[in-house]
Amino acid sequence: MDTSIDLVVVGGGPAGLFAAIRTKELNPGITVMVLEKMDRCGRKLLLTGAGQCNLTRAETSREMISGYGRQGRFLGTALATLSPQATCSWFETCGLPLTTRSDKKIFPASFRAMDVLDVLMGRCEALGIDIQYHTACMSIDTDGSAFSVGTSDGRSIVAHAVLIATGGMSCPGTGSTGDGYALAKTFGHRIIPPRPALASARVLNEDLADLEGVSLETVELSASHGRWKGPLVFTRNGISGPVVIDNSRDLATGETVRLRLVFRDEGKPMSREQFAAVLLRQAHSMPAKRIDTMLHLATGLPKRLVAHKMSMLRISQDIPCADMSGSLAAKIASGLCQWPLVVSFEGAFKTCMATAGGVSLEEIDSKTMMSTRAAGLYFAGETIDADGKSGGYNLQAAWSTAELAARSIASRSYRRTEP
Ligand SMILES: Cc1cc2nc3c(=O)[nH]c(=O)nc-3n(C[C@H](O)[C@H](O)[C@H](O)COP(=O)(O)OP(=O)(O)OC[C@H]3O[C@@H](n4cnc5c(N)ncnc54)[C@H](O)[C@@H]3O)c2cc1C
Repeated sequence: MDTSIDLVVVGGGPAGLFAAIRTKELNPGITVMVLEKMDRCGRKLLLTGAGQCNLTRAETSREMISGYGRQGRFLGTALATLSPQATCSWFETCGLPLTTRSDKKIFPASFRAMDVLDVLMGRCEALGIDIQYHTACMSIDTDGSAFSVGTSDGRSIVAHAVLIATGGMSCPGTGSTGDGYALAKTFGHRIIPPRPALASARVLNEDLADLEGVSLETVELSASHGRWKGPLVFTRNGISGPVVIDNSRDLATGETVRLRLVFRDEGKPMSREQFAAVLLRQAHSMPAKRIDTMLHLATGLPKRLVAHKMSMLRISQDIPCADMSGSLAAKIASGLCQWPLVVSFEGAFKTCMATAGGVSLEEIDSKTMMSTRAAGLYFAGETIDADGKSGGYNLQAAWSTAELAARSIASRSYRRTEP
């Protein structure tokens, strides 16, 4: 039997649930149905912040914008409409105490992502939002006056507005498998090819297994699309840590990144030549010690990293410092200051934290989140071509874009004026 609904939300993640709730809060007269293909909503939300849910940041909307790179400008209105502060107030008013860490990340005071989901589910229930589980949206059509939403159980739901909040493609086991892209394409929306973001990189040209767990406080990474500084950690088969994760959206499989360990003299970073000269001096000041011991003592580099590098450079570890020559010092300095690593993100969707790419921003009105191709069709959350750094940016984008869509839908401003 056909049903007619004011708003059908496709996807019960943070963006879809928040949009459904806020639409109802702003206009209780509107009927809202959420279609969720999994057995429960918010599976990915439960994974966020390692189960603790870093739901936003202690920053102003303006400060947040730079965390989304080039897409930040598009999100300006959304972030100004629902700021991080307003987001916190909303959750606190719903009875969820929050806490701010010294790194500006905001979490529920309980550090339980489940408590954030409980608030959302509790509001849905209180507002009478109809959530249909195990129900995937398979198609969306329109005759120009209403939408027909086709579901996996063969129903056709008539809706006046539809919000696509199907998320990206990261952690597909949570239900985010990129379905929104095909749905958006039906209306002629362009899809920017999705790629893993907030991902660790596998390294193809070097076996790094012996370095697993070694971390470095500051390294410099340079690649074709940029140069970044930050902490790095070696994994069993590659590199991770903030400097890799936050910039992975700008790295491509097969690309060579240059890893430079930064060494300082009186606080100032040294050039490769200056570093080689320091190594030579240090070696001559402790002639009886082995070179690997001197390297560890002089640079503070972890012993495992020194051993790995010496072996890669084919330098015997037990050479005494007395045998250190200018060319050997230059070889070691080069090895540590210019370390080429070929990265791969193949298979990274399985574990990465966000998706770069998605529904092109060019055909979405940044003031309402409505499609410029179909009045009444909206987008929110990670399904659009906007992604942020780690640290609460992505969930804030979900809350803010959902709020913007909710305001437009609640005021029914998508309705065409009658002739
Ligand atoms: C491990 C991990 C940790 C993270 N930690 C953080 C963090 O601490 N802070 C932060 O800001 N961000 C974090 N993120 C990112 C954040 O989780 C996402 O940006 C956010 O969940 C996006 O919300 P969304 O509602 O757009 O999409 P999703 O959360 O992906 O939800 C989409 C929903 O749509 C449903 N769906 C999909 N297709 C269909 C269909 N055809 N029909 C019906 N339903 C459908 C899915 O089942 C899913 O429930 C993390 C991500 C991961 C993977």
